Amino acid sequence: MAAADALAKVRNIGIMAHIDAGKTTTTERILFYTGITYKIGEVHEGAAVMDWMEQEQERGITITSAATKCEWKDHTIQIIDTPGHVDFTVEVERSLRVLDGAVAVYDGVAGVEPQTENVWRQADKYNVPRMCFVNKLDRTGADFFRCVQMMIDRLNATPLVLQIPIGLEGDHIGVVDLIGMRALTWRGETQKGEDYAVEEIPAELADSAAEWREKLMETLADVDDAVMEKYLEGEEISVEEIKAAIRRATIAGKANPVLCGSAFKNKGVQPMLDAVVDFLPSPLDVPAIEGTATDGETPLLRKPSNSEPFSGLAFKIQTDKHLGKLTYVRVYSGTLDSGSQVVNSTKDRKERIGKIYQMHANKREERPSAQAGDIIAVQGLKQTTTGDTLSDPANPVILESMTFPEPVISVA
Ligand code: GDP
Repeated sequence: MAAADALAKVRNIGIMAHIDAGKTTTTERILFYTGITYKIGEVHEGAAVMDWMEQEQERGITITSAATKCEWKDHTIQIIDTPGHVDFTVEVERSLRVLDGAVAVYDGVAGVEPQTENVWRQADKYNVPRMCFVNKLDRTGADFFRCVQMMIDRLNATPLVLQIPIGLEGDHIGVVDLIGMRALTWRGETQKGEDYAVEEIPAELADSAAEWREKLMETLADVDDAVMEKYLEGEEISVEEIKAAIRRATIAGKANPVLCGSAFKNKGVQPMLDAVVDFLPSPLDVPAIEGTATDGETPLLRKPSNSEPFSGLAFKIQTDKHLGKLTYVRVYSGTLDSGSQVVNSTKDRKERIGKIYQMHANKREERPSAQAGDIIAVQGLKQTTTGDTLSDPANPVILESMTFPEPVISVA
């Protein structure tokens, strides 16, 4: 596959949430469905009902990595850990910088909470395209529409409601998919294949579904000219055209697709993964990264292409029991080879690249090199700290010129 084609199938995403809204649970379920923690087809009938918790214990999985790679429907999803606490403003901003899109997870009872509000505003600053997942619809007091209204009132978001729930609390059994105008009913808590069945929209929800579909199309027409034109002409708009328009609007930061379910019960996670692939940007969809020359002033651009000079940002340092110091790097342009020499252009120091690792939730994989769009961990960097730029010694660039505000002290 050509490099650009491969890059088009990458989604570097973060999951942002107020503490307790379900970020960890959602991440775990994503890994579950993407086969990291469970291989579909490997399991016999009897074992297929094995409980998630049992599997988790059996495999001893905890997600501690700053970036975790998984595969979904022929796409690569890299989940970058986004700190949820407002007191780590610098870390939040830095993680927002290295991802291309994000999923904001809300507690369906509490709605929009202060930490989400904070991170949302920071994401606004860096133009990070975002979609929303209203979680915990099984909880007593869950109110999907209230949460959507809070997105408008508190976040100034433009929600594109793509699903409405069928039932809430103990009766939450599925959603109406407003693009396909069909019902997706959740199949069970430990379903390994498709976690929903496709059915007709329940009769009692027909009016509400029609009303929300109309709203979806109106909002889409407001933010997308192609849809507006067809809408005004009264022309039919195909599912593919609707999806393409949602993708354009999301990437442009004009709207936020909204989906819902209950991650805890494995409800709605697969359609959410489909939406990540369908609507969030690849590294090719985001503008070239802006930096400066080493004078700190002359503007320089680095396009997400392997033919550009290498540039990357060190965004996190972790110590691994076996590997020692690991520096997580987002590669923005060019190729990074293990064993090569690069320059830490922030500190004006030469650095030798040791081994390069692709980090997964439960394993790591050594790679000879990394390309534009990749997020990898590098061994052997001595002088590099978070926020430093690494670049091709012949073409140095400084990518992070942010000045951070004083850390915000959170008050409980
Ligand atoms: P985080 O702090 O955002 O990472 O939240 P967690 O994923 O740790 O979830 C916080 C708590 O909410 C845990 O006890 C979860 O089991 C629970 N939880 C997560 N998702 C759901 C859900 O869909 N429904 C219900 N009822 N509980 C959930």
